[in-house]
Amino acid sequence: MRSTMQDVQLSISSILRYGSMAHARSEVLTYTGSGFRRATFAEVAGRAAQLAHGLRELLGVTGDQRVGTFMWNTQEHVEAYLAIPSMGAVVHTINIRLFPDQVAYIIEHADDRVVIVDDTLVPLLSKLADRLPTVEHVVVVGDLAAADTGAFAAAGKSVLGYEELLAGQPTTFDWPEVDERDAAAMCYTSGTTGNPKGVAYSHRSVYLHSLEVCSPTGFTLDAAERTLEIVPMFHAMAWGLPYGCFLSGAAMVMPGRFLQAAPLITMIREAGVTFAGAVPTIWADVLAQLDRTGGVVPTLRRAVVGGSACPPAMIAAFDERYGVQIIHAWGMTELSPLGSVAHPPAGSEGEQRFRYRCSQGRFPALVQARLIGADGEQLPHDGEAVGELEVRGPWVTASYYRDDDPEKFRDGWLRTGDVGTITPDGYLNLTDREKDVIKSGGEWISSVELENHLMAHPAIAEATVVGVPDERWSERPLAAVVWREDPVPFEQLCAFLSGRIAKWQLPERWTALDAVPKTSVGKFDKKEVRRRYAKGDYE
Ligand code: ADP
Repeated sequence: MRSTMQDVQLSISSILRYGSMAHARSEVLTYTGSGFRRATFAEVAGRAAQLAHGLRELLGVTGDQRVGTFMWNTQEHVEAYLAIPSMGAVVHTINIRLFPDQVAYIIEHADDRVVIVDDTLVPLLSKLADRLPTVEHVVVVGDLAAADTGAFAAAGKSVLGYEELLAGQPTTFDWPEVDERDAAAMCYTSGTTGNPKGVAYSHRSVYLHSLEVCSPTGFTLDAAERTLEIVPMFHAMAWGLPYGCFLSGAAMVMPGRFLQAAPLITMIREAGVTFAGAVPTIWADVLAQLDRTGGVVPTLRRAVVGGSACPPAMIAAFDERYGVQIIHAWGMTELSPLGSVAHPPAGSEGEQRFRYRCSQGRFPALVQARLIGADGEQLPHDGEAVGELEVRGPWVTASYYRDDDPEKFRDGWLRTGDVGTITPDGYLNLTDREKDVIKSGGEWISSVELENHLMAHPAIAEATVVGVPDERWSERPLAAVVWREDPVPFEQLCAFLSGRIAKWQLPERWTALDAVPKTSVGKFDKKEVRRRYAKGDYE
């Protein structure tokens, strides 16, 4: 028997319509370096309509054509997030920190016809001007007159200002009905090996994911929250926060290009931020800055940490010193990106509660998870068996855009490349990424576990551990540390570790760095650490 229910298509235009009506007075604030530009959701929606008209009438964007964004987190980027999918086109968020070759590759691969670029990023993009065959128009946000756009013109592209595109256009748009399974947005993974791979989100996946972002198993957002969106909109859709905020009415504070700890703390204080999201390296900088300056962030109640494992020492430090509750979450570009969120179960207390909070968390009902062993067998969720995590669900990608990678999928499940355990009550504990696990004499050493212990040492600001070749054991750990201030002898760090991990796991190789190399999205770049070690840089 079929149901009697209506079959209404889920769409981003309905998020746009609803947010602009129900939360008309909620705000988007964009940091300028000395204060904020402000606009209400109603104003943002009006400008999104103007953007859609401009793209259609002046630049001829029709159908499912791709419009790229090469932008920081700003009000205009939110307008692009809303307008482009709502008009039926596809917004492609380009990671500005990829290598230039990769940027050129993904723009061509996605077939971007228009790219919207921030004035401060014009110098970066214009270097590639003659390597963007699909791009016909470049739209500059900010000061067009001061931007050096000559290279675009020389490459035969039209260049115009964002405000010029919007000027005089109607502030309403007759948003078309879309098929909810059509693409709305796309994002490429940073591609640690080979070319970046594209994920195309649908209206349906974005809508369902946005509901999850707002829900209590996600981030519990409502119109009283003021969110600081530090995670870039060009990385995994800013964890779904822009759409989640528009749906729930939570204010969006956008940091623009000011991503250092000091301005972030200023933004938190001046905009009364209650909730923020960023990778651990950013939170480590914020913590160090607060500690150094005796700063406080009284309004900040919750901070989501994801993208890499959050060291337990960081969770404890924010709790104890600043009253900020860290929420640890796991996700991937391929999951829109929200996978699991570490909300401890009701009734858990003390040490047990803390352990739940340090885990990668529990999956929402719409994401199924399983662990697969070395021989392809399914492993029990007993908190002991270690296997590769596989997931499936309505906001999990089933393939890559125009790119075969059958290795990444098994019977309709996405192979995450992450290794760990799942407890009987559903909490994920990741040991490592498959490619980062250190294989020492037939046993596995978790690089993440060693890092977490090291980062709890008071002398250490940052620590990363990688496997390096070893004649006898095949691989052994190399620990690379960054001192907070004064160095301590490595023997002292070994002694500190020896009570916490098995003796055979203790690193024999140590090096001190000025900073751990980071990837384009601010994670420890272990591949680069291994490369530098192999080159002899760390001898
Ligand atoms: P990239 O591959 O470019 O880093 P993603 O952000 O999509 O892009 O990376 C997803 C990966 O990040 C996951 O597969 C996992 O290895 C890692 N990751 C994300 N969140 C966590 C977390 N909370 N703990 C440990 N690893 C994490």
